Amino acid sequence: MVFRQRDSWYKSLIFNLVIGFLIIGLIYFLFTRQLRNAGQGAMQFGKSKARMILPGEHGKKFDDVAGCDEAKEETREIVEYLKDPLKFKLLGGKIPHGALLTGPPGTGKTLMAKAVSGEASVPFFSISGSDFVEMFVGVGASRVRDMFEQARKHSPCLIFIDEIDAVGRSRFTGIGGGHDEREQTLNALLVEMDGLETQEGVIVLAATNRADVLDPALLRPGRFDRQIIIDLPDIRGRRKILDVHAKTIKLDASADLDVIARSTPGFSGADLANLINEAALLAARNDRPAATQKDLEEARDKVCFGPERRSRQIPDRDRRLTAWHEAGHTVVNLFCKFGVPLHKVTIIPRGPALGMTMMMEKEDRYSRSRQEMLDSIVTDMGGRVAEELTFRDITSGAQQDIAHATNLAHAMVCSYGMSEKIGPLKYDDNSEHIYLGRDITKKEACSEETLREIDIEVKRIVMEAADRARAILTAHHDMLDKLAEALLERETMSAAEIRELLGLPADDPASAESSVVPAPAAEPAPSAPASES
Ligand code: ADP
Ligand code: MG
Ligand code: ZN
Repeated sequence: MVFRQRDSWYKSLIFNLVIGFLIIGLIYFLFTRQLRNAGQGAMQFGKSKARMILPGEHGKKFDDVAGCDEAKEETREIVEYLKDPLKFKLLGGKIPHGALLTGPPGTGKTLMAKAVSGEASVPFFSISGSDFVEMFVGVGASRVRDMFEQARKHSPCLIFIDEIDAVGRSRFTGIGGGHDEREQTLNALLVEMDGLETQEGVIVLAATNRADVLDPALLRPGRFDRQIIIDLPDIRGRRKILDVHAKTIKLDASADLDVIARSTPGFSGADLANLINEAALLAARNDRPAATQKDLEEARDKVCFGPERRSRQIPDRDRRLTAWHEAGHTVVNLFCKFGVPLHKVTIIPRGPALGMTMMMEKEDRYSRSRQEMLDSIVTDMGGRVAEELTFRDITSGAQQDIAHATNLAHAMVCSYGMSEKIGPLKYDDNSEHIYLGRDITKKEACSEETLREIDIEVKRIVMEAADRARAILTAHHDMLDKLAEALLERETMSAAEIRELLGLPADDPASAESSVVPAPAAEPAPSAPASES
């Protein structure tokens, strides 16, 4: 007993000592590491965070960028210059110091910049605009100077500033005045760009999807005076992008990329890359050796409308409600001449929605007409009206539809000049610009009276659409019930199946009619891909 006690006393002493040393050692280790890091941080603070990437590292060439032929044409000059800056000097030509790649997200701006450096086989300094923005005044500016110094050492080379809007926002605006860190950084950037000489062989490429908020000084000659627009791909571009990415996966003989390209208007290059990847994952999950056309289509729906959530438990009451709600959208859509063609309907939850009526353009659209917009609002109203007619009560499920309809009606009145009463005048609310800290003092002249008239017009458009939806569903109540019952049983139905069930002709004579006057809008049409429940 005693012996044992002594033994355990010794043991516990040693144990405590060891633990003590360990703890002291750990504290010492952490402390010194902290100190070392802090020291390093202080030294590196003004150093640029730009990463130098050698051309072999990413291996991107123009061939990897599908479509975008104009953009490639415009950047070819930069490539030629980077290959041999002196040649241009001797010829006396002036080369732009910078070019700005603009376009929606995922269209391949970053990819394009890499391809330029790859084609010219020069190093590539990559930095994101937000890397310049720091808490302490002056840090960003010294980072800019450091980056240009580094680049000059490695010339010829390419500096790529991604998301330049983070530093390049318009100065002198915003709440709290303009004197801030960002402004200093921007000034440093402008000074450095002005200081670039032709023989130095440094080109600055920048990318943004908000060219409209950039400081005008950035776009002046000698800076980013060349704008290269990279737009969403058209059908041919999409086909090429699909081809590029399909090389990386195994495709079944049934796969028809033409069909996929046709049915994906509005998809960016990144969406298409994602689609191909999802198709490969779906095939793998189902133990198929190669991705089939069905996989591709399911992947497209997933990218477009969000993933299915089969596992979610839906109470019976909600399933019934969803079935009638979606059937309401569908039947109304089928009787709208100018609506977006029906794609399929499901009461399987997808993304945040309980069910979905999916509509899909058959081809690329660059504008939408007034009648098409009106029909889109009528289709939106179909869900709510079906609930009302069937259950004599209404639910919160129509929230998304109501928001979409209201926004579209508002845009029709205030932006597209489609209301006779208001006329072709612009009454955009500039809340977005206030948020961006721009034009805060400028307000569109708009009287109280006009505001009231706008409200009345928006309301009229939506209410009339609801009336039209009610008329359609009252006249075709039998179809509504039949489709809803079928949906409860089959959960997902394609447009063709629905037409067969309802005894409608297979192809759609209404939408084939093209007596529509296209609205002369330059921007891509606002699309209404889906009405959620
Ligand atoms: P952005 O910088 O314009 O947001 P990215 O260059 O980052 O877009 O593109 C993201 C991804 O999308 C790329 O890595 C590529 O896989 C794919 N992608 C986009 N556009 C194209 C294109 N034109 N050709 C091939 N792939 C593309
Ligand atoms: Mg990018
Ligand atoms: Zn709905």
